[in-house]
Amino acid sequence: MTSKRFDIAVIEGDGIGPEITSCAKKVLDKTGDLFSYSLNYIPVCMGGKAIDDHGEPFPAEEREKCLKADSVLLSAVGGPKWDNCPERPEKGLLTLRKIMECFANLRLIRLFPELSDASPLKRSILDKGIDIMVVRELTGGIYFGEHSISERSAYDIELYNDYEIERVVRRACEIAMKRKKKLCLADKANVLSSSKLWRRIFTETVNDYPQIECTYMYIDNLSMQLIRDPSQFDVIVTSNMFGDIITDEASMLTGSLGMIPSASLGNSSKGIYEPIHGSAPDIAGRGIANPCAMILSGAMMLRYSFDLPKAADMIEKAVENVLKKGYRTRDIATEGCILTGSEEFTDIIIKEIEDISKCNE
Ligand code: NAD
Repeated sequence: MTSKRFDIAVIEGDGIGPEITSCAKKVLDKTGDLFSYSLNYIPVCMGGKAIDDHGEPFPAEEREKCLKADSVLLSAVGGPKWDNCPERPEKGLLTLRKIMECFANLRLIRLFPELSDASPLKRSILDKGIDIMVVRELTGGIYFGEHSISERSAYDIELYNDYEIERVVRRACEIAMKRKKKLCLADKANVLSSSKLWRRIFTETVNDYPQIECTYMYIDNLSMQLIRDPSQFDVIVTSNMFGDIITDEASMLTGSLGMIPSASLGNSSKGIYEPIHGSAPDIAGRGIANPCAMILSGAMMLRYSFDLPKAADMIEKAVENVLKKGYRTRDIATEGCILTGSEEFTDIIIKEIEDISKCNE
């Protein structure tokens, strides 16, 4: 079998970043051995470390490395050390998304049944399962519209053009095709003109995907339905601000920040893959961070940028099995579990990958 080779810009970032990045690289390399691909990691300096080393959060030569790579794997940036810098580390993140033209942010909200106790929802709801992909428009809408504030009044403009809606809906359709083929548009078309346009463009675009079951839901109803019965959703697509809010709500349903990966994608196969959590400076350097969100972000990269779904499936299955066997990092520890540090947990995942692969032979 010919081996595929990919260049990955790796931003280790700050806080727990370097620790969890090294865990993800180990797992990706292991599956590479099994699925005949190899990854060439190109270190990129961004965030607090870049401020220390270069005096700015994302120097031009580091940006170039990201643009040239096949994809970007990013941990998290920031920390109290840089809170009062004139340019904060997080500015690098916004620049990265902009230069990579990543207009669709995907957050995978999956409940690992073994972690049900960490969820605020009732067992009767959780037993039906949670596996939702939220696709949020990332580069348009109210956050990028005109803002104005005077002494006694203010406004922010939600402006969307048809092509901005179409491209993200198309992305969501492609994702739904690889999942259960169910897609829901979250909008506020009963009140907002921008949502009426979303609904029109959504309807036109999904016509090209007759296999997908498409629905609409007002965002207020959807926020409630996410809590009442999250199992009804497969893929949700929505605007930037609605997506910002419901992804936080949906993430909480699984109860564990350290488990949730994300991807930001544009028109090309390139993407930015990162956990949803921050740099956790409170636990940095202690070897106790949960590496799962970072490892699962790597799995998303294999699936969405490199078209290696079987390798991605294997990593996701291995994480699930390790949890089933009772292993936990401190943040997701439950009574009677086997407590491990980040590295030990990663080694157990790697062993699990080897075992699954032997069973598949
Ligand atoms: P955080 O997500 O870093 O931490 C919140 C809590 O969750 C902390 O108690 C932390 O220890 C814990 N936690 C987070 N990830 C964990 C993991 N993998 N394993 C175990 N525990 C984990 O949020 P915060 O404390 O608000 O932010 C810390 C810094 O990270 C800030 O500078 C913030 O700006 C930055 N941040 C960066 C990003 C990013 O780079 N995308 C995102 C959010 C926050």
